[in-house]
Amino acid sequence: MTREGFDVSCGSSRKTQILVIEDEDTIAEFLKTGLKYEGYGVTVAKDAVTGLDSARESNPDLIILDIMLPDKDGFEVCRRLRRRGTSIPILMLTAKKEISDKVEGLDAGADDYLTKPFSFEELLARIRALLRRSGRAVKTTELRVVDIVLNTETREVFKGGKRLTLTPREFSLLELFMRHPRRVFTRETLLNRLWGYDYPGETNIVDVHVSHLRNKLGDKPPRLIRTHYGVGYAFYPEEGD
Ligand code: CA
Repeated sequence: MTREGFDVSCGSSRKTQILVIEDEDTIAEFLKTGLKYEGYGVTVAKDAVTGLDSARESNPDLIILDIMLPDKDGFEVCRRLRRRGTSIPILMLTAKKEISDKVEGLDAGADDYLTKPFSFEELLARIRALLRRSGRAVKTTELRVVDIVLNTETREVFKGGKRLTLTPREFSLLELFMRHPRRVFTRETLLNRLWGYDYPGETNIVDVHVSHLRNKLGDKPPRLIRTHYGVGYAFYPEEGD
């Protein structure tokens, strides 16, 4: 069975460019590594002034903007970018959970916000949605592998025409597998990607979720989601190999 209808590319040779304005090394590195892995071009600026310069020079497709920066705050950066007339989608990162920050971010001209700590899959979903809305990238919203259809907009999953009820994490896990067939994900990677970079729990929570997902998919040997003993899991869209 081929991967017909499976689309992971944007159909363009130019990489979608993302500018990350974030002073915290751990988060900047987490974003840079993960986004590059996903095929995005990434530039990191560690303060507001560098970020504003970089936005002007490189005209990125999307900006990920932290609120607490060493020189100016993210709201000010956002207002300056909008005053210049730029329509680049801006996703703000906030460590604060207060609604007022979110409102201020949106008032300043941000398109969306994410509260730290966030999972990488959620970030990717937000990025895809913003790029789609801005018309800067055309990405498929429907993934089809074998007899599984996953719609990232309606968040519906069908297997053999039958609708499955998945939890948000099971959905993200399946989406990740479907976007990256044959790639072996370690438990740590899955934990990072689905639960966030500072999830304090045990990696066996990953095994539990994989097990639930397999049950819901009716995934019997030879499985679609296979265990690589001592390593992690990978998704094999070809049947019976
Ligand atoms: Ca910061």
